[in-house]
Amino acid sequence: MEMNLETRVNQMAESLREQGLRLTPQRLAILGVLLSNRAHPTAEQIYEQVHKDFPTTSLATVYKTMLVLKETGHVVELGFNDGSNRYDVVTEPHAHLICVNCKSILDPEVEGVGQFTQKIIEMHGYKLVNQRLDIFGICPECQALLSK
Ligand code: ZN
Ligand code: MN
Repeated sequence: MEMNLETRVNQMAESLREQGLRLTPQRLAILGVLLSNRAHPTAEQIYEQVHKDFPTTSLATVYKTMLVLKETGHVVELGFNDGSNRYDVVTEPHAHLICVNCKSILDPEVEGVGQFTQKIIEMHGYKLVNQRLDIFGICPECQALLSK
């Protein structure tokens, strides 16, 4: 069941406070943007949204906050070859469906991604460090645009 945004922001804020992070209004706004944006935003996109309400926020503040959130396990950073890093608040194992044309990233609703990884890991006696399942394609909207 999907928790409401305020609850999720409060939970994340509380967990960050417990870890000794000072939560400024800017940082709370960053959490709000991050938790309400399911499109896996870039740091720049988060910055643009937060900047509307908090004009004193800098891109550096966003980067610093994202680093803390990453280090404390609240977000996953998805790095790409072209340097366009994206952020994900869903930290449980899941796949990504990525459009190579418009760069949209969605979380397909399929079960068993974690079990799939676990099976492979156990089969080869590995200890899991990290996992990522990216599927690249062209989304239906881009297919329609490109065929015109
Ligand atoms: Zn697309
Ligand atoms: Mn995701």
